Amino acid sequence: VKKEMTEKNKKKVLTSTKINCSRCGKDYYVSFVADGHRNYFCEDCLKIMHHNRKKGVVKKIFDSQKKTTFFEFVCDVCDNFRKAIYDPQKINGQIYCKECLNQKKADDRKKTRKNTVIIKKSEKD
Ligand SMILES: [Zn+2]
Ligand SMILES: [Zn+2]
Repeated sequence: VKKEMTEKNKKKVLTSTKINCSRCGKDYYVSFVADGHRNYFCEDCLKIMHHNRKKGVVKKIFDSQKKTTFFEFVCDVCDNFRKAIYDPQKINGQIYCKECLNQKKADDRKKTRKNTVIIKKSEKD
């Protein structure tokens, strides 16, 4: 058992290459051989970069199996990647998911209440 362990460890050392992440500068070990001719990024940065690429874009996708259209986007407020059946609303160029839009509406209502002299009116929406 001990011998096996050593051999496994040896293999791991041989196949992993230390890279320096071009984005955050962190040392990171990858299982492929780096050729040194391109930029390398650690897993965390790759995730962030992938996520950021999707930001600001609402992708309309047609599901031919379900015969429905859905939307893929990253909400600018909660920063979550969403798949939704609704086209998200854009306010000042920012994409809002349903939850954040509801939250914004609630916050706006609170703000207007604070800033205005109390005028009683019924709110229906
Ligand atoms: Zn990184
Ligand atoms: Zn959101």
